[in-house]
Amino acid sequence: MTGPIRRVVIVGGGTAGWMTAAAMERLTDAGMSVTLVESEEIGTVGVGEATIPSILDFNRWIGIDEDAFVRATGATFKLGIEFVDWARKGDRYLHPFGILGRDVQGVKFHQLWLRQSRLTGAEADVGALDDYCLSAVAARLGRFTRPNANPASVLSSLSYAFHFDASLYARFLRGIAEERGVVRREGRIERVDIDPENGFVRAVILATGERIEGDLFIDCSGFRALLIGDALGVPYVSWQHWLPCDRAVAVPSTSPGAPLPYTRASAEDAGWRWRIPLQHRVGNGHVYASAFTSDEAAAQAVLAGLDGPALAEPSQLRFTAGVRERLWERNCIAIGLSGGFLEPLESTSIHLIQSGISRLMALFPGDMASPVEQTQYNRLMRTEYEQVRDFIILHYHATTRDDSEFWNHCRTMTVPTTLSDKIALWRGRGRVIRDQGGLFTEDSWIAVLMGQVLQPASHDPLVEALPIEGSGNFLRHLRGVINQTAQAMPTHADFIAQNCASPQAA
Ligand SMILES: Cc1cc2nc3c(=O)[nH]c(=O)nc-3n(C[C@H](O)[C@H](O)[C@H](O)COP(=O)(O)OP(=O)(O)OC[C@H]3O[C@@H](n4cnc5c(N)ncnc54)[C@H](O)[C@@H]3O)c2cc1C
Repeated sequence: MTGPIRRVVIVGGGTAGWMTAAAMERLTDAGMSVTLVESEEIGTVGVGEATIPSILDFNRWIGIDEDAFVRATGATFKLGIEFVDWARKGDRYLHPFGILGRDVQGVKFHQLWLRQSRLTGAEADVGALDDYCLSAVAARLGRFTRPNANPASVLSSLSYAFHFDASLYARFLRGIAEERGVVRREGRIERVDIDPENGFVRAVILATGERIEGDLFIDCSGFRALLIGDALGVPYVSWQHWLPCDRAVAVPSTSPGAPLPYTRASAEDAGWRWRIPLQHRVGNGHVYASAFTSDEAAAQAVLAGLDGPALAEPSQLRFTAGVRERLWERNCIAIGLSGGFLEPLESTSIHLIQSGISRLMALFPGDMASPVEQTQYNRLMRTEYEQVRDFIILHYHATTRDDSEFWNHCRTMTVPTTLSDKIALWRGRGRVIRDQGGLFTEDSWIAVLMGQVLQPASHDPLVEALPIEGSGNFLRHLRGVINQTAQAMPTHADFIAQNCASPQAA
């Protein structure tokens, strides 16, 4: 196929499909048609409620009014994730969004904190590392406000994302996409027509016999992977040996009170439980490894952990952590669960959808003859999946837990060298180098490495250039300013009530 692209067909109308449609509506201005096919009868995966701050860029990119979006999706604000019982039973730590402390004369803030915390006497009284992160302090106090753009203000160090109802988000985006020219077609796809000469997708055929032709197809069909998997046969690379969790059971419950401004991830004997507060309900689920526990035990654990009555029967999902060998194959690009899945521990799936969309828009092909864009796309996306994979493995591997077979397996398994190198660098002098284009900032890595109780042996020798006493005063002052700023914020519940209360919650 060498002609110009005139018809783009999106297969699937879950979060991936409608995010893609809302972003690609601008192709209609360039004379292309954008059609989305979905089946109400099949439905969507029905989970996916927690996000990371990059979602703000996506929403801004497509011109979403944030308060309207929060109201429409019953969203709450998320300042980070609290990890309970991960490194040791009884431990808890936050992976907050936003900036940690303030670097001094080119020395990373946490290096200064490491040195001071190892002194004795008054100078060692430096508190916890996350006392120096406004998002963490505000999260613990249950407070929220939007950041200030002025870099001189400590409020500029705050960063946030959302918890939302993913099906309401898809509906919200559908409204935007349809209004701007995307055409929705309802129906179950029964067959994919492949050109026998070049293996390109020519059309999808509905159960009614209707044929929807296209030049470029975006596979957003979820775990079914109708195009990239079934029709084009691109193999799936499993990472289950590093990420053994392969099932989840999800159940919504009523809200017990004011929503927390963070996700909670509590480690269990063979996986972990999520708790995601929305305005109108709480999303709960248990991600677990079927090799180490039973479906019944997992369902019981999630029900026992609810802090309000269940609103529905538990629903079960199965998956394999991994990614397609190629996400762009011939004239098909897989976005969303059809392309790969990494469990929701760091809420990265919706980000990976967004990343796929923005890379595709940046590399949008003039025609399908040249593989240049395809090669770049596949390389960049694979790297990003691997970086996210490593970050998630870290949470399981860096543990001292030896109270179950599952934790013994995770603690003693061999991890990718990209991760073991990172851990070794940290263990020496507490250094973290962010990979090029890496999603997680150095501060995110530091929060999780410290939270998982991986103590560096020493610190950066450059810290010795900073005077001990001056550093102590600096730390005390910064901690005080951050605490005062957080205390002055409205509560999370008040912020929502005043700006973006959802009719769902009424
Ligand atoms: C347990 C679990 C928890 C998760 N939690 C999070 C989280 O907290 N944060 C996060 O970012 N992500 C999370 N995710 C991932 C997130 O749910 C997905 O990335 C997101 O919902 C996108 O899904 P999707 O659109 O690719 O697939 P789906 O929602 O499954 O949509 C697939 C679409 O394809 C259509 N379709 C399929 N077959 C056909 C056919 N034959 N004919 C016509 N249409 C068809 C369906 O009708 C549907 O519209 C989680 C996933 C799981 C499994």
